[in-house]
Amino acid sequence: MDLALSPAQAAFRDEVRAFLRDALPEHLRHGARLTSGVFVEPDIGREWQAILEARGWLVYHWPRDAGGPGWTPIQRWIFEKECAEAGTPALPGMGLKLVGPVLYRFGTETQKAEYLPKLRNGEHFWAQGFSEPGAGSDLASLRTRAVRDGDHYVVTGQKIWTTQAQFANRLFCLVRTDPEVKPQRGISFLLIDMASPGVTVRPILSASGDHELNEVFLDEVRVPVANRVGDEGQGWTIAKFLLDNERGGSSFGPQLIADLARLRALAGPFEGELVTRATRLALEAEALEMTELRTLIELEAGTPPGPRTLVTKLIASEIRQGIDELAVDAFGLAGLQLPAERPFYGADVPAPVGSRDAQIAAGRYLNSRAWSIFGGTSEIQLTVIAKNAVGL
Ligand SMILES: Cc1cc2nc3c(=O)[nH]c(=O)nc-3n(C[C@H](O)[C@H](O)[C@H](O)COP(=O)(O)OP(=O)(O)OC[C@H]3O[C@@H](n4cnc5c(N)ncnc54)[C@H](O)[C@@H]3O)c2cc1C
Repeated sequence: MDLALSPAQAAFRDEVRAFLRDALPEHLRHGARLTSGVFVEPDIGREWQAILEARGWLVYHWPRDAGGPGWTPIQRWIFEKECAEAGTPALPGMGLKLVGPVLYRFGTETQKAEYLPKLRNGEHFWAQGFSEPGAGSDLASLRTRAVRDGDHYVVTGQKIWTTQAQFANRLFCLVRTDPEVKPQRGISFLLIDMASPGVTVRPILSASGDHELNEVFLDEVRVPVANRVGDEGQGWTIAKFLLDNERGGSSFGPQLIADLARLRALAGPFEGELVTRATRLALEAEALEMTELRTLIELEAGTPPGPRTLVTKLIASEIRQGIDELAVDAFGLAGLQLPAERPFYGADVPAPVGSRDAQIAAGRYLNSRAWSIFGGTSEIQLTVIAKNAVGL
C-alpha cells in the first residue's frame, strides 16, 4: 500500500490546513478540548457548522449532486485528519450525518427543498427517535404507533436515549404503521416537529452528570402524511441505510491518534505501566488508521469495501475507552474530580484541581463507556462480524 500523498492530495491537505489555521477560532478549539460529553454543546457545534458552510465544506461527505463538494474518499480522510489534529468541535451529527443522507436518497423533491437548506444553515436541529424501552438492539420490535387519520398520522409512544432532544426542533422517528405484518415491514419513517402538541422531553442524566440523553414521549401527536419519508412500510430499509452511515462513513483513527497525542502532551511524560498502556493504544490506533486507509484506497479505486469495515467501530470503541481510562490514571488524584457544572468551559466552572484537562478526565471516562453501546453494541457488532466476516 502506497501511503505517500500524491502532489494533488498534498496540495489539498495544505489548503485544508491553511483554512483551519485561519478559520478555527481559539474559543471553539478550547470548547472542544474541554467537552466531556460524547457530543459537543450546540453553541460551539453550530458556530463551527456555520464556518464550514460558508466555506462550502460542511456536507463534505455528501455526493456532489446532493450539494457536497464532491471529494474523494481520501480527500474526506485528509479533511478529518486535519480537523482532528487542529482540535475542531464535532458537528451536530444527527442531522448532517444521519437524516441528511436519508433525505437526499429517499426524500421527495418537496422534502429536499424544505429540509436540506434548513439542516445546512442550522435552522433545524435534529434528534434521532429510534430506540424505545425494550427496542434498542432489537429495534424492529419498536411499538410507537402511527395511526392514519386523513392526511395525518396520530403518533403515540415513547422514545429513549434521544441525544440532545432538549435542543432539537425536529425529530426523525421510526413508527409502527402496520402492526399486522412481519415487524420489519410495518415500520415507517416520519419527520416530527418537536413543537407539535403532545411531544414531551424529559432529561436522563448520564453517570458523569452530563445531560445529553432524554426520553421523548409522543402523545397523540398529529404528523402530516407529507412528513413521511419513503413509502409506508419502507422505514426499516431507510433505517438500515441510516445505520450504515452512522456506523461507517467517517474514519475513527485520526481522532484517536490526535487525542492520544494531546493526552501525552498534557499529562505526560508517562511512567511505568502507563508507558506500556499508552504505547499499546498508540499502536492499536495506528493499526486502525491503516485498516481504514486500506478501505478508503479500495473505495477510491472503485472496489467495494470488504467485511473489514465491520470491525472498525468495535475496535475504535475499545481504543476510545482505553485512552479515556489512561487519562484518569495519568492525571492521578486530579483525574478523579467530577464537578456538577457543565460545560467545563466558560465562566461558571469551579477552579480545577490541577488543570482543566484533569478536571474533565473523569467525565470523559464515564461518558466513553457509551461507545460500546450506541450505534450498535459491541456484542451485536461481534455477532455481525461472526456471521458476515468469519462465516460462523
Ligand atoms: C450515549 C448514547 C446515545 C444514544 N443516542 C441515541 C439517539 O440519539 N437515538 C436513539 O434512537 N438511540 C440512541 N441511543 C440508544 C442506542 O442505540 C441503544 O442504547 C443501543 O442500540 C442498545 O440498545 P438498548 O440500550 O436497548 O440495550 P439492549 O438492546 O437491551 O441490550 C442490553 C445488553 O444486552 C446485549 N444484547 C442485546 N441483544 C443481544 C444479542 N442478540 N446478542 C448478544 N447480546 C445482546 C447488548 O449488547 C447489551 O449489552 C444512544 C445510546 C447511548 C448510550
